[in-house]
Amino acid sequence: MAAFFKNKMQRSNFHTHSTFSDGHATIREMVDTAVSCGFNAIGFSDHSYAPLQTSYSMSKDGLEPYLEEIKNIRKEYDGIIRVYAGVELDGDSDINTEALDYKIASVHELRYKDKSYPVDWSAEMQHELADLLFRGSLTDYSIAYYDSVIKHVKKCSPDIIGHFDLVTKYSEIDEEDKRYREYATYTAIECLKYCDTFELNTGAIARKLRTIPYPAPYILKAIHEKKARVIITSDCHYPERMTAWFAEAEKYLESLGFTHDEHGKLNEKINDIDIWY
Ligand SMILES: [Zn+2]
Ligand SMILES: [Zn+2]
Repeated sequence: MAAFFKNKMQRSNFHTHSTFSDGHATIREMVDTAVSCGFNAIGFSDHSYAPLQTSYSMSKDGLEPYLEEIKNIRKEYDGIIRVYAGVELDGDSDINTEALDYKIASVHELRYKDKSYPVDWSAEMQHELADLLFRGSLTDYSIAYYDSVIKHVKKCSPDIIGHFDLVTKYSEIDEEDKRYREYATYTAIECLKYCDTFELNTGAIARKLRTIPYPAPYILKAIHEKKARVIITSDCHYPERMTAWFAEAEKYLESLGFTHDEHGKLNEKINDIDIWY
């Protein structure tokens, strides 16, 4: 097995995908990787079943076997690593989340006339919807995205807000645009009413699509002022990307004024994990 990078501070990853949704490794392979990384905890956040997103979500009957598999592995790895069952929840995913340890709320798409327009699929798709609905304005397109983020976070009261400004993935959005920036910042602060923890998601860096994680630094500064908390995740679909950009992420959060707490509490079921505040 390849030697995995052992991290200085962050010793968990709560945004990971397995073959139960669109990940490329099994739950066991991912847990073995997490152990090799020296982690004390791993959380699975496979995409929950959503009728219009079957290309990447769990199957309709997938939740039960998913929970069962995690339960068995959790028992087997008791004393080695803690294993948690979560989901990455989309707007139209209407599943029973009671048995889960945590939820990440993510918006991946916008809708128009029953057609789905993923915001993270391609720059062309972003422009296509902006042309259809907003006279080509990607700022107005982004405002529509942020409106669905607030709506979604309010509806599902998640434990973690996923890749907050995903809409910036292809660098098409003008982040210097005052109206864009103000709305993104306003949305982040508004979301804090329903969830106080954002992820610092390094996934797009591992995919060489970005050089900094989500959310953008000015958003991180604004939510830090409002006492938000942050956890570092790599939105991991491949074992070799388990700790992608983690060491840099720690320095990055420190430079933005965040402090590390190695005994952070995510919710009633998950404590003693790395959280930044
Ligand atoms: Zn996602
Ligand atoms: Zn994800």
